[in-house]
Amino acid sequence: MNEPWRPVGAAAPVARLIEELHRLPGIGPKGAQRLAYHLLRAPREEACALAEAIVEVKDRIRLCSVCQNTTDVDPCQLCSDPARDRSVVCVVEEPLDILAIERTRGHKGLYHVLHGAISPADGIGAEQLKIRELLARLRDGSVREIIMATNPNLEGEATTLYLSRLLQPLGLRLTRLARGLPVGGDLEYADDLTLARALENRQEL
Ligand SMILES: [Zn+2]
Repeated sequence: MNEPWRPVGAAAPVARLIEELHRLPGIGPKGAQRLAYHLLRAPREEACALAEAIVEVKDRIRLCSVCQNTTDVDPCQLCSDPARDRSVVCVVEEPLDILAIERTRGHKGLYHVLHGAISPADGIGAEQLKIRELLARLRDGSVREIIMATNPNLEGEATTLYLSRLLQPLGLRLTRLARGLPVGGDLEYADDLTLARALENRQEL
């Protein structure tokens, strides 16, 4: 999140809009000003559609009670799709990672979103992740393989290591994405082909 910053020379409501836009990731002061004046000039319907889309996301989106992905229906579309292989669960850090893996078309199973990764530096421990929910899913024995698809960085590695130790006694097949993804990056930024190969050549843990 950007630092608070107060625009000078704009009417108070415009300044407020600029300030709100500037809070968004990747939006600098000039970008926020341009967007605000664009919205000011845009037809009322266009600006209202944006405002309504934001409110709808905040009001209607919650977490799937099965996979913890963001959804407007529970269970989510993926979890209730009869064509998906329910015996394979791919574990990811964030909902955006599901979009990245779906783009590869290489995974026909289900997902589980942890909503973060273990990071002692940021004070994030295993108990803050959706691990209890994952263990609950594994109780009925229908899941036979867990694919760990955490980000290729320190936090992702720590999370994969922690979960592999936790899941080892359950007698499941435990795999992870093959190495070769850009180290230090996020899964969502990996190119589709590299990610598809990492999924196809996944390794036993
Ligand atoms: Zn789901």
